[in-house]
Amino acid sequence: MARSIVVLGSTGSIGTQTLEVAKWHRSDIKIVGLAAGRNIDVLEKQVRTWRPQIVGIAHPGAAGLFRDRVRDLDVEIVSGEDAASTVASCTTADLAVCAIVGIDGLMPTIRAIESGKTIALATKEALVAAGQIVMDKASRYGMEILPVDSEHSAIFQCLRGHDITSVRRLILTASGGPFVDLSKEEMEAVTVEEALRHPTWSMGAKVTIDSATLMNKALELIEARWLFGMDSHKIHAVIHRQSIVHSMVEFIDGSILAQLGSQDMRLAIQYALCFPNRARGFCDKIDLTEVGTLTFEEPDLQRFSALRLGYEALRAGGTLPCVLNSANEEAVGLFMSGQIGFCDIARLVEEAMLSHETLDGSSLDQVLTADLWAREYVRKQAGRIGR
Ligand code: MG
Repeated sequence: MARSIVVLGSTGSIGTQTLEVAKWHRSDIKIVGLAAGRNIDVLEKQVRTWRPQIVGIAHPGAAGLFRDRVRDLDVEIVSGEDAASTVASCTTADLAVCAIVGIDGLMPTIRAIESGKTIALATKEALVAAGQIVMDKASRYGMEILPVDSEHSAIFQCLRGHDITSVRRLILTASGGPFVDLSKEEMEAVTVEEALRHPTWSMGAKVTIDSATLMNKALELIEARWLFGMDSHKIHAVIHRQSIVHSMVEFIDGSILAQLGSQDMRLAIQYALCFPNRARGFCDKIDLTEVGTLTFEEPDLQRFSALRLGYEALRAGGTLPCVLNSANEEAVGLFMSGQIGFCDIARLVEEAMLSHETLDGSSLDQVLTADLWAREYVRKQAGRIGR
């Protein structure tokens, strides 16, 4: 079955890997739209390879330069902060890969649903911040949301053919990141370079920092709550250092189903793009006899306070998960630019959560207001830390 797709966030880690998967399935997948931020070098190559109808570039200056570069091509170029939403609304596509990092991916995801597209969702932040709104939209428009996050793809695969009422727990695996064995004191001194070195997965910068704090797992608990309509007390995270078991589902009879595979995001991307079919893959096969041992440990919520905050936001609901996410996005930016320390990330997120007056999170207005409030709060508090 041929699929026409738009890739939102095409020059990022998930976006470029999506196009690798699309290349492998070239006869079945047509790229009709691409949206990027400002990386026009990569974007130009993608546009020349795929010849999409429409290209969106968020950064207006970059869009101007890009127009000059591709004068020889017949392509519509849109720019500005709504560029990705315009590409998301493109009527000739039937599936949107939503891979814009952070809450910037929220509106384009909503627009893609409203214009009748199946969603392959990598932007977990959209569900964390506005899960109820996104899922309500999807059900109103009859659109499916297919997970591209490896953990959620695993759970999605394990759940197929099962009724959600037969599930006792969803168990998300976490590699633990590069600092899983560090003491709290050692963690205070972690540098940006150290945090960007992930032991098992190759990913974009923001999600790699989130994996080092375990905030990524915190966000994924909330993502799972919305994707699978699961009660918050039935979602758990375990440390699984090998990253071979991508996640598990425990059923009421005590059985646990797991999905295993190599540490390659293209596996989850391909599953979403080819769903409901399982296509021949080009990812490395794993040899379990070479892996040898699979281990599972309870995460330390004292050392990894970001994960504790994730459980708290998951259980509280409303606008608190949005604050967790937005405060984190802001704090990660400040850490990467050297303005705060590694442990300040979770500290600032916690302060923001404690100071926030939680609303029910049922309107987009509430969510966007909470987002702005949390960012502002973190910037102010970070200035107070004054590094
Ligand atoms: Mg993940």
